[in-house]
Amino acid sequence: MLAQSLSRLPGLGPRSARRAVLWLIKRRDTALVQLLDALDVLKDRLVECQTCGNVDTANPCAICADTRREARSICVVEDVADLWALDRARLFTGKYHVLGGRLSALDGVRPEDLSIGKLIERVAAGGIDEVVLAMNATLEGQTTAHYIAERLEAYPRAGDGAGAWLAGGGRAGLPR
Ligand SMILES: [Zn+2]
Repeated sequence: MLAQSLSRLPGLGPRSARRAVLWLIKRRDTALVQLLDALDVLKDRLVECQTCGNVDTANPCAICADTRREARSICVVEDVADLWALDRARLFTGKYHVLGGRLSALDGVRPEDLSIGKLIERVAAGGIDEVVLAMNATLEGQTTAHYIAERLEAYPRAGDGAGAWLAGGGRAGLPR
């Protein structure tokens, strides 16, 4: 039954799922206990950060609450997985904003389906002078970046107040 559940995870087929279960059975007192603890946290304690959309055990999340991070800079990503990948790579020292997807005419995803309004609110509240649009290098990702850049033009930057918001705009190729 565990093998069946595991085989439904992305990237795990039935064969690797069975191998994982056997591996865990042999490590009942070590790896299995750790996995159960981690799953417990996943089930009971993970919440969505109401500021940036990250998933963490606290709201605001550890990144939003970290005063050592550059609060004037926001990196906008499509999904939480992108945030985690960027953060693991330590490529960005500011704060993040997770959109929860990308605009798509094909899939019927409209601006109001994403947390674009929340991003605009953060920028409109002031104190931000850089928004990095780190959408994926797909047509939909770039359309989303373009749309957000246009919406942001209505707001003055906290810095010199001139120029575009897109520092490193439309940056392609997130680390995986
Ligand atoms: Zn957050």
